[in-house]
Amino acid sequence: MSSLSRLQFPVSCLALFALHTTTLTAQAVVWPQHSLERPQPRIVTPGPLIAPTPPPSDAIVLFNGKSLSEWQSTDSAGSPAKWAVTGDAMEVAPGTGAIRTRRAFGDVQLHVEWMTPTPAVGEGQERGNSGVFLMTQYELQVLDSYGNKTYPDGQAAAIYGEFPPLVNASRGPGTWQSYDIIFHRPHFNAQGQVTDSARMTVFHNGVLVQDNQRLLGPTHNQERAPYVAHADRLPLVLQDHGVKVKYRNIWVREL
Ligand code: MG
Repeated sequence: MSSLSRLQFPVSCLALFALHTTTLTAQAVVWPQHSLERPQPRIVTPGPLIAPTPPPSDAIVLFNGKSLSEWQSTDSAGSPAKWAVTGDAMEVAPGTGAIRTRRAFGDVQLHVEWMTPTPAVGEGQERGNSGVFLMTQYELQVLDSYGNKTYPDGQAAAIYGEFPPLVNASRGPGTWQSYDIIFHRPHFNAQGQVTDSARMTVFHNGVLVQDNQRLLGPTHNQERAPYVAHADRLPLVLQDHGVKVKYRNIWVREL
């Protein structure tokens, strides 16, 4: 390493930190969490539904329609996942709790297909709510957002409580939808302070809805909580929000 690059490194780190802090402050001030004043993302009709996207050769298949063997309950004992397997899908068994992967992941490309119940029941956050939690704590919202208004940072493909999707690319209830997610984990220093925030890029039904978005912190309802240092790898979690949402064809590539 030359003396020049040794000098440049801390300067560029400081510059990044300053930029990051400014960005966070501006976003938090302009749009309070769960604001109904925040503009509703415009509606984009996705292309036609196609067959499930098969996993590439280096993917870890987390659900292939047959077995929940890659999943467990989120209780301390890690008891078997209690969700139902029906047809080629798994279905939330309301009241049994979230499920998590037995394996832990950090940076990933994740493919998930999901379907909310038809006929749709409930309004707003009660309609088809579930969620994909990266590293157990960063939620990409699953919701029936087809003609169902809610606060924009809580609709389908929102990074819950933080960032609405760029557009609303939802299909209707009873129709398979897909998320293709690129997630980069946050990094922490030895003192437990965040040095690089988590980032998420998401395609909803093939439409870009999150573009390398930096997360403000872990997902909390009614609160924007700061990052808390955690392991480099943690399980993926699917949320039980009391609705029979289905999932199928879940695979992940480690980055
Ligand atoms: Mg949810």
